[in-house]
Amino acid sequence: MSITGTELRDLHRIHKQLTDLRGRLDRGPKQVAASAGAVRRMEMDAEQAKETHQKARVASDGKQLQLRSREAKLEDLKVKLNIANSNKEFQAFKEQIAADQQANLVLEDEILESLERIDQLAEKVNKSETDLAAARSEADKVKARVEGEQANLDSELAGVLSELKVAEANLPLEFKSNYDRVARVRGEEALAEVDGEVCGGCYQMLTPNMMNELYMSRAVFCKSCGALLYLSESRGVGD
Ligand SMILES: [Zn+2]
Repeated sequence: MSITGTELRDLHRIHKQLTDLRGRLDRGPKQVAASAGAVRRMEMDAEQAKETHQKARVASDGKQLQLRSREAKLEDLKVKLNIANSNKEFQAFKEQIAADQQANLVLEDEILESLERIDQLAEKVNKSETDLAAARSEADKVKARVEGEQANLDSELAGVLSELKVAEANLPLEFKSNYDRVARVRGEEALAEVDGEVCGGCYQMLTPNMMNELYMSRAVFCKSCGALLYLSESRGVGD
């Protein structure tokens, strides 16, 4: 029972195509998931930026309220100063006014700083929203592209699988079960082209006897990796 290098080379090509198609079918959904993940991260970033901005605004508003009430208190003190009954009272109000004015200056500085920070945080919010919009549109594009590709890949895969069925049906029964077992586990690595006198799958040196068998178009499995071997096109005999 013989099997030509051409048949085996063709079978190997089919297996390689299957590996490639399955890899692409597998990659598509991963790319979709990765871009959706990026969108989720940016949604969280945008949410976080908004929250930080909002908190800073609330804190700043609080300080501004505090300043207004302190200023009102200061006006009261000035009125009291003007109607002080004694020099001692007058001095006490004067000192308190000076202290309060100092405290208000500090608070005003804090408010100015907080307003600057709010501006910076607003910029961050804008940037995170721009980034998010870009990520969303990228994710939509990836999804549309992958969905388009998957349909084509599915039909290509179906075509190659039926090619495989035909090619496998032509294999001699004697070693078909052996081949089936290896193919199930190893896919495209179930076959290997002989490179010089070496297995192209695992680079194990082949024996002269194995080479002779190959030249006689007999089925030869690599003793090291188990691949079904075939000669390169230029050396094939019986093709
Ligand atoms: Zn090998």
